[in-house]
Amino acid sequence: MITVIGGGTGSIKLVRAIAKRVQDLQVISNVADNIWLMGLYICPDIDTMVYGLSGQLDIGKGWGIKEESYNFLEQLKILGQETWFRIGDKDLAIHVTRTRMLKEGQSLLSITDWIRRQYEIQPRIIPVTNNHVETRIITEQGEMHIQEFWVKNKGSPEVRGVRYEGLKTSIINQEAIDAISQSEIIVIAPGNPVSSIWPIVSHKVIKKELVRNRKRIVAISPIIGSNPISGPAAKYMNAVGVEVSVAGVASLYNEFASNFVVSSNENPETIGKLEKAGLYVSKTEIIMKDNRDELNLADFVLGFLKK
Ligand code: GDP
Repeated sequence: MITVIGGGTGSIKLVRAIAKRVQDLQVISNVADNIWLMGLYICPDIDTMVYGLSGQLDIGKGWGIKEESYNFLEQLKILGQETWFRIGDKDLAIHVTRTRMLKEGQSLLSITDWIRRQYEIQPRIIPVTNNHVETRIITEQGEMHIQEFWVKNKGSPEVRGVRYEGLKTSIINQEAIDAISQSEIIVIAPGNPVSSIWPIVSHKVIKKELVRNRKRIVAISPIIGSNPISGPAAKYMNAVGVEVSVAGVASLYNEFASNFVVSSNENPETIGKLEKAGLYVSKTEIIMKDNRDELNLADFVLGFLKK
């Protein structure tokens, strides 16, 4: 069994490639970008996994469903409602259904598993917790939900800090712990270290299980040199006082990851720092621009099965 920990646009690229190679794959998904909007419970990272693994993802955007229309949003606009969060007509179905099931008392875990089966997705998608956890971005304009910062305000306010509401008291799904303890390798996907990975791995219950399995954990860098491959990772890392580099990411993951996959073009000095910190570093092409790149990286990662 292989477990991938992640969420979002970088993670899905690797996950869908690993899914082509192995039968027994489980994904532990971030939930801290979940948000209540328009009376609907929206789970962007889970939905990206669902759409990506069912072949429905808009690959160009990295989120949402391909060939979407936005009639629902147009109507909302006429009704004077906020429409900054882009919900397409096809996409609406998952949010409406999930919200109804939540209101009927089902857990996010069982709803997600039901959705997975409806879309005939093989890999299990495990929300790390059923509780509502929220990444809050502290900015010069005040504190806001991560979606408000990134989508509504287009990531422009200066970031002063990041905090995770509800994280410490959240109850981790046992399925996530079992996935980690039973896997041959546990992959930390190339996701945003602060907003996608940290809200999973920093929870004491998850961290304890990861530390116990440290030798089998492989982290893929989302950064080359001092540049994230995409997204606001640099803003968040700066705000939490972590260097924007592979070394910075390693300082966050070091306690529980023993293997680090970095770009073939990574600075040798940085690699030296990682090795000094006790990490086993391997180099390959880590940018996934197309299916070929994704499969190459997946095969590289699966190579750890033989080590
Ligand atoms: P985002 O930062 O809000 O986009 O959140 P995500 O968790 O979706 O993070 C995307 C992360 O994945 C960013 O830190 C990117 O640098 C990284 N990323 C995106 N595409 C790739 C890729 O092809 N390869 C690698 N190694 N990292 C990637």
